[in-house]
Amino acid sequence: MEKSLIDARKRDIEENYKEIAENIAAAAARAGRTAAEVRLMAVTKTVEPVFINHALSLGVDLIGENKVQELLSKLDFLEPANVEKHLIGHLQSNKARKIVGVVTTVQSLDSVPLAKELSLRSGNAGVETAVLLEVNVGEEASKTGFLYEAVKDAAAEIALLPGLRLRGLMAVPPLEAEEKELRGYFAKMRRLFEDMKPLYPGFDTLSLGMSGDYPIAIEEGATMVRIGSALFGARRY
Ligand SMILES: *Cc1c(COP(=O)(O)O)cnc(C)c1O
Repeated sequence: MEKSLIDARKRDIEENYKEIAENIAAAAARAGRTAAEVRLMAVTKTVEPVFINHALSLGVDLIGENKVQELLSKLDFLEPANVEKHLIGHLQSNKARKIVGVVTTVQSLDSVPLAKELSLRSGNAGVETAVLLEVNVGEEASKTGFLYEAVKDAAAEIALLPGLRLRGLMAVPPLEAEEKELRGYFAKMRRLFEDMKPLYPGFDTLSLGMSGDYPIAIEEGATMVRIGSALFGARRY
C-alpha cells in the first residue's frame, strides 16, 4: 500500500477513535455512568498490523479477533506485543490449545465441552483463561452460543473448572433488529448479568454492542463494547 494511503487511513482511524470516545462518554453519561466504566475493544479482524498498531498508539489497550489463525499470524507484528487480546469468534475445541496463553479471555465460550477443553489446556500451560459465556440471545439457528435459559446451569458447571475464570457474558443480537427490539435484547442480557453477578467473584464484564449499536448497548448496561468498522473503516472481504 502507498504511504500516502496508509497515512490517510491512519488519520481516519484517529478521527474515528476520538468520535467513538466521545460517543462512549455521552452514552455513559445518559445512563448515569462514566466513560471509565465502559471498556473499548478494537475488533481487528481483517485489519493489517500497521493500522492495529496505530490504534494502539492512540490509546486502545484491548483487541479482539474472531479467528485463531488470523490472530496468531499477527502476533509477531503487534506493538506492544503484550497488548491484551480476546477471542470473540467461535472456537473449535481442537484449537483451544493454540489460543491458551495468547488471549487473556475467550468471550465466545459457547459450550460446556469447549469449557472443559479450555480448562484442561489452561491447566497444562499453567495459566488462567478468563471466559465470557456467549448467549444466543436472539435464538438464531445460524449462531452459536448458549440459549438464554441454559446460561445459569452452564455457568454453575463451568465455574467449577480449574484454570478458568468466569467473568461475564457476551452477546450479538440479531443484525436486523430495530432499536426497540435491540434494547429489549440488551436489557434482557443485563438482567441475567445482574442476577449472576453475586454468584461468581470477578463477574464484571457484560460485552454488548458493536459499531452500529454501541451507544444503545451502553445505555442498556454494557461494560464493554466491541468496535471494528467504526474505528478502522468498512471491512473488505
Ligand atoms: C466483527 C465483530 C464485531 C465488530 O463488528 P463491527 O460492526 O465492525 O463493529 C464485534 N463482535 C463480534 C463478535 C464480531 O464478530
